[in-house]
Amino acid sequence: MKSVKHENFVDLSKLCSIRIGGKAKTVYFPSSSKEIRTLLIEADNTDKKFFPVGIGSNTVFSDGILDFIFVSTRYLKKYIIGQKEDTFYIEAEAGVSFKTITNIVKKLNLEGFENLSGIPATIGGAVVMNAGAFGTEISDIIEEVHWFDREGNLHVLKRDQINFSYRSSPFQKEGFVYKAVLKLKSSKKDIKSIIKKHLEERKKKQPLEYPTAGSTFKNTPKYPAGYLLEKVGLKGYKIGNVAFSEKHANFLINLGGGKFKELKKLIEIAERRVGELYRIKLEKEIQIVE
Ligand SMILES: Cc1cc2nc3c(=O)[nH]c(=O)nc-3n(C[C@H](O)[C@H](O)[C@H](O)COP(=O)(O)OP(=O)(O)OC[C@H]3O[C@@H](n4cnc5c(N)ncnc54)[C@H](O)[C@@H]3O)c2cc1C
Repeated sequence: MKSVKHENFVDLSKLCSIRIGGKAKTVYFPSSSKEIRTLLIEADNTDKKFFPVGIGSNTVFSDGILDFIFVSTRYLKKYIIGQKEDTFYIEAEAGVSFKTITNIVKKLNLEGFENLSGIPATIGGAVVMNAGAFGTEISDIIEEVHWFDREGNLHVLKRDQINFSYRSSPFQKEGFVYKAVLKLKSSKKDIKSIIKKHLEERKKKQPLEYPTAGSTFKNTPKYPAGYLLEKVGLKGYKIGNVAFSEKHANFLINLGGGKFKELKKLIEIAERRVGELYRIKLEKEIQIVE
């Protein structure tokens, strides 16, 4: 495993967008499928938890030292673009960012990805979370996913073999998403201006001026999570240096020097209040690593 590029005692707050967390004993940075396979096989032979990391925009790490097998997708950024008549296929490794995909679809005026463009994500994190916005989920534009199981076997899965649902995929349980192929169409619409509109809307509604981990809870079938949090008095509610945002109650924000235990307490209070007042069990969207 030590043959794969790695760093010891890495500041976990630098690996997630809310900027909270202690230290990782080791973080691995594979740059090929062979290295991913090596890490999976070795991890399968230990009792350490295996945890892939994209840009950590839906992830929160606990304080202290975590002795997990953290695998960053930072050096998995290759992509190729194929074309068949007016259909385009973007085959992208896990660490390719949505910013890169946005630049491609703007340049080629491709349709299908525009609603997802402002989500801070890597391909790997987005596939695993089935990220979505403005009525589109990444699963709507997936052609296939190249996924390693926990024993290091590579599977190429077509879209109809993958059971995606709201902010959920089978890849959350184990293994590693290596690549995804997105299927997009050449468009007659002005894709650039649609993207611009969505970015403006996000700026208006989301607390982008603070470090945040995006939606804390999933929306419930009856109510958006933000509505429930507001109704139970948690909009703007703060413990120490972590708060539910005034702008969007479902976004936890780090006011500066926020601690994991403050964030955890806020989550517990929210779950308890919504449970007591609405008889609804909130389900977390953020991935908590402790
Ligand atoms: C300001 C803001 C706005 C947001 N808006 C939206 C939104 O509109 N819609 C939405 O759906 N989400 C939104 N999010 C949440 C987040 O952007 C998405 O969940 C995104 O898909 C996470 O991507 P990531 O690369 O940061 O994943 P990470 O947070 O790094 O990882 C998320 C999960 O995926 C796993 N993972 C990551 N890469 C791999 C891989 N290669 N193989 C296997 N597992 C992997 C991780 O282990 C973790 O469990 C928002 C977040 C922020 C901060």
